[in-house]
Amino acid sequence: MISKRIAIVGAGVNGTSIATACAKRGFDVTLFDAGTPFAETSSKSSRMLHGGIRYLEQGHIKLVREALIERDEWQRVAPHATRIETFFFPIYKDSPRGRMTLFAGALLYQWLAGRFSLGKSRLHTKRDLLKAFPELNSENLLGGVSYCDLVMDDQALAGILLGEARSLGVNVQPNTPISDITTSGTLRAHGKALSFDHVINATGPWASDMLNQANIDSRFDIEHVRGSHLLLDLSLPHALVFQVPADNRIIFCIPQSANEVLLGTTEHHHCL
Ligand SMILES: Cc1cc2nc3c(=O)[nH]c(=O)nc-3n(C[C@H](O)[C@H](O)[C@H](O)COP(=O)(O)OP(=O)(O)OC[C@H]3O[C@@H](n4cnc5c(N)ncnc54)[C@H](O)[C@@H]3O)c2cc1C
Repeated sequence: MISKRIAIVGAGVNGTSIATACAKRGFDVTLFDAGTPFAETSSKSSRMLHGGIRYLEQGHIKLVREALIERDEWQRVAPHATRIETFFFPIYKDSPRGRMTLFAGALLYQWLAGRFSLGKSRLHTKRDLLKAFPELNSENLLGGVSYCDLVMDDQALAGILLGEARSLGVNVQPNTPISDITTSGTLRAHGKALSFDHVINATGPWASDMLNQANIDSRFDIEHVRGSHLLLDLSLPHALVFQVPADNRIIFCIPQSANEVLLGTTEHHHCL
């Protein structure tokens, strides 16, 4: 039997995972990227492999439960590229969410994880918190809440995922910008028309551009969001999550190594 030929455009975490899933089902897969695989959005995240605790606030219970099960899967697939981290929320008098609200959310998060829970969610006194983080501003500090989640080494994860795709026979084609995709399976690479049974558009933030360039209508629109991260020369025993009173955002401070901390914002709408 001749296996179907699938072209996947975009070798970020989504394209590469789709390529692996297709190869496991016996398809003949080619994975194209305009540049280096995993060099775009997938290498610029906040490096959390989380179950999405903050989506509980919007009532996305089912989504969070699914993500917590996926989190467990990633931990098993890539134990060397993931690490369990405890996240501490310091709570101040002017924090938008109070101690009991956050504790209820953290308990729900732990409960939803069920047997996939990575550790207990806890309530902390001001004293506990200052003992663990003496550099915290103690003025108006009421105490805190902690919960456990997973963080990732995105470069190591990229290596594992690309290695798995290649070992399953996926033909990875870096530095190959694709244009003129069609719903009948053709595309253009380096000026040449190529033919497949199916083309999958996994170009992340460029997904709409790809369709527009090829005059393909879609029911879906891409809503771009961006964030900014700073790598600080700092040492922290655990991750901290700060609430920004002015606009409800939260800011993560996640240890990356003994003396490096990633300071990250949450999503921000971005107009191109
Ligand atoms: C601020 C911020 C923080 C985030 N933090 C987290 C986090 O902590 N944890 C988490 O899980 N997720 C996080 N995310 C989300 C996560 O980063 C993305 O969902 C994920 O990286 C998207 O991967 P992708 O494969 O869809 O896109 P990308 O990684 O961008 O891959 C798309 C690929 O398509 C290629 N491409 C584009 N056009 C073409 C073309 N014409 N021809 C060929 N190739 C092309 C590009 O070169 C690129 O490599 C965060 C997102 C933001 C904005």
